[in-house]
Amino acid sequence: MKIAIASGKGGTGKTTVAVNLYLAIEKYWDKNVTLMDCDVEEPNDVLFFQDALVKEEKQVTQIIPEIDPDKCTYCRKCAEYCEFNAILIIPPAQYIKVSPDLCHSCGACFVACQYDAIKEIPFHIGNIRHIDILKGNGLIEGRLKVGLPLQTPVIRKLKKEKAKTNGITILDASPGTSCSVVNTISDCDYVILVAEPTPFGLHDLKLMVDLIYDLKKQFGVVINKANLGDNDIYKYLKTENIELLTEIPFDKKIAESYAEGQLLSDVIEGYERYYITIINKLK
Ligand code: SF4
Ligand code: SF4
Repeated sequence: MKIAIASGKGGTGKTTVAVNLYLAIEKYWDKNVTLMDCDVEEPNDVLFFQDALVKEEKQVTQIIPEIDPDKCTYCRKCAEYCEFNAILIIPPAQYIKVSPDLCHSCGACFVACQYDAIKEIPFHIGNIRHIDILKGNGLIEGRLKVGLPLQTPVIRKLKKEKAKTNGITILDASPGTSCSVVNTISDCDYVILVAEPTPFGLHDLKLMVDLIYDLKKQFGVVINKANLGDNDIYKYLKTENIELLTEIPFDKKIAESYAEGQLLSDVIEGYERYYITIINKLK
């Protein structure tokens, strides 16, 4: 079973929910659970585990073209085939430039060149780390190289990494509705949307819900910081007949523990019950 945790915007507490749900599932439902951090630009799940131990790290590469100036005739066919403007050829100046960060590894330029001037080379775009966190199967995270706009290839590779077994996987998606989020949730069985009861929170939740409807996924909503804001989000859920999984109240201790990278269930008495409610609904 794959369960994605997503939110329309950052700062809703999505990561907190992902990490604490992982631990609650391990304790109350199934020890065979894996946490996967798909927020590859900012993989923060690991910060919550003081005992985290990286046991394996591997590079993620993608294939990009390298042009041999001795064989190239500067015909520009490869640049014309490239939909992503990743190749610049200026024949009078005999200038060749490939921009790896624009390349999508589509392979069109390799097909285009009739002079055998292009060869495939690997380009390092990020890393995947397997991390032991003492409970459950552990954490697998993707980490994109800073400054690269290639989230999706890292997420695709990350999702191919098999958990130790085929149990439950919690996927922590990036915030927003970008293609990296679509990639994360596209093959999930269920999506938990984390939202705040504020006008901004409602606006971004609606965008997320539209996306989930397009992807035809089963989903429910967790309202975080439930005692702040207004009631509009509840009216919206009722009108749209969307399942409210649980409401987690704001507590100053939560913000403090988040800042210190502590697990909420360890800090706030009775906090686990919100996650037990989610688990019972998931079951
Ligand atoms: S298609 Fe081949 S020969 Fe033509 S510009 Fe590109 S690399 Fe050079
Ligand atoms: S592999 Fe595709 S995206 Fe990359 S440079 Fe070649 S044509 Fe452009």
